[in-house]
Amino acid sequence: MSYDPTSLLQPQSDDAVSVEAPRTVGSRLPNGSAEPVHRAAVEPSDRPVPEHPYAPSPIVTGGPTAPPSPRQRSGWVRALRSVAAWFDTWATADAIKRAHPHKRAVQRVEWIRILPFALLHLSCLTVIFVGWSPVAVGVALGMYVLRMFAITGFYHRYFSHKSFKSSRAFQFVMALVGASATQRGPLWWASHHRRHHQNSDKPEDVHSPKQHGFWWSHVGWISTRENFPTDFGAVRDLVRYPELRFLDRFDIVVPTLTGVAMFLLGVVLEAVAPSLGTNGWQMLVWGFLISTVVLAHATFTINSLSHVFGSRRYETTDTSRNNPLLALLTMGEGWHNNHHHYQASTRQGFYWWEFDLTYYGLVVLSWFGLIWDLRPVPREVRDGRVGRGSVRS
Ligand SMILES: [Zn+2]
Ligand SMILES: [Zn+2]
Repeated sequence: MSYDPTSLLQPQSDDAVSVEAPRTVGSRLPNGSAEPVHRAAVEPSDRPVPEHPYAPSPIVTGGPTAPPSPRQRSGWVRALRSVAAWFDTWATADAIKRAHPHKRAVQRVEWIRILPFALLHLSCLTVIFVGWSPVAVGVALGMYVLRMFAITGFYHRYFSHKSFKSSRAFQFVMALVGASATQRGPLWWASHHRRHHQNSDKPEDVHSPKQHGFWWSHVGWISTRENFPTDFGAVRDLVRYPELRFLDRFDIVVPTLTGVAMFLLGVVLEAVAPSLGTNGWQMLVWGFLISTVVLAHATFTINSLSHVFGSRRYETTDTSRNNPLLALLTMGEGWHNNHHHYQASTRQGFYWWEFDLTYYGLVVLSWFGLIWDLRPVPREVRDGRVGRGSVRS
């Protein structure tokens, strides 16, 4: 039976407000207790990736009198598509799939497309001109914590692993907060992360420091044409939500609005509380630019440093490590060896002394009924009595 890509676009029925975890399969622990497993988080489908639902029309180039050579034309088309991808991420995805349908291992840096990301870094230097104030630095810290929580708690533990449940409305709210971190949409993030767990430290793992080197695992891999599209085959349970598809396709919208909001906050504070010593530009630089760049690289350490430095409590089939410093920096994600050992649990610090701020925040949200069914770590799994290797159930 052939796969119908348009099936991804069917809207949810009106009563589909509550987001239930997708179909689970059971596995049995040595003590005989059944432990549910989220299939999508553990075993991404290997069925063919569907055609891009909203693939744009091909960009036509070339004048009537001097038709360019095919080589020139493909270069211009690629450059224009790279620019278009700043605003519409689906502008290039279809072309990439056609150009390299079976060569995802090929890694080509897409310099034009990553220009905004490079400028984001360079723009932090404008701090020389705007200076600092306690309130601007405080807002930067607050934005870091809020967005790190959205990335680790929701982009990772919810969208990628479904380690707890939530409503459709609240998942969208947290997707919005996560999208403001400039780490693209939740579909792209989750699809690549699920593939990481599926292929950890194998040649197919696109951000394995063991396979591709440290800097490539940290930041190089996100700059390539091949890793730019969302792997819809890995997130079939999420792609049915149009609001998530919107965030994925137009991933520049939320970060731009966040930057504007920071600027306006500074303008308002300058007007109503001039003694704070801030203004629009200063708040933009600290509250958005610096906070976003630091947040991005802190997140990236889990792909790079967490597979290089730290201790290994469990003999997983990859190079994942537990690193307290990274756990502090990323609000709990540094217990990465724990996580590779058992992906299904909401918490990544398995013992009380393993600091996991994201988990504590999620527990608080559960008190208010915003999320529920947080999945624990079975004692047998935590104590390593389930044999060697990664425990994915
Ligand atoms: Zn994970
Ligand atoms: Zn990992």
